[in-house]
Amino acid sequence: MKNNKTFTMIKPDAMQNGYAGLILAEIEKAGFKIIEMKMTYLSKESAQEFYKIHKGKPFFNDLIHYMTSGPIIAAVLEKDNAVSDFRKLIGNTNPKEAEVGTIRNMYAQSIDANAIHGSDSDENAEIESHFHFSNEKN
Ligand code: GDP
Repeated sequence: MKNNKTFTMIKPDAMQNGYAGLILAEIEKAGFKIIEMKMTYLSKESAQEFYKIHKGKPFFNDLIHYMTSGPIIAAVLEKDNAVSDFRKLIGNTNPKEAEVGTIRNMYAQSIDANAIHGSDSDENAEIESHFHFSNEKN
């Protein structure tokens, strides 16, 4: 995968609060093209696999519980400098520290229910995209 794609999930709190459409509009307004998208659920096993880097951390069980608490939207996005531009668009992990105008500043509730995921490297964008989509064009 070149450095023009990233992977995102609209998380259960944002879905539950009716922010999915607003968040997708922000993503498109910022110049990202949606090239794959689906509404889905994470099973406990798949959430544990997706977040295995955080296994053993104090918030791990809460994170798995939260990420399996309702539907999510998973999507692959395309834009130049996709990973870093998308991390800027979503803002700090903790919405209290997220800059005004970022998605987490506008739509997140708390550090655990923080509305949206964005890959943190090109390598992880590729791994995470393949986790949800098997299409070769990713
Ligand atoms: P992200 O890349 O900004 O999503 O942050 P991380 O990869 O570091 O963490 C993954 C997810 O775990 C975050 O989006 C949060 O939902 C959750 N998380 C991270 N750090 C904390 C923490 O200190 N406390 C709690 N409760 N959740 C956290």
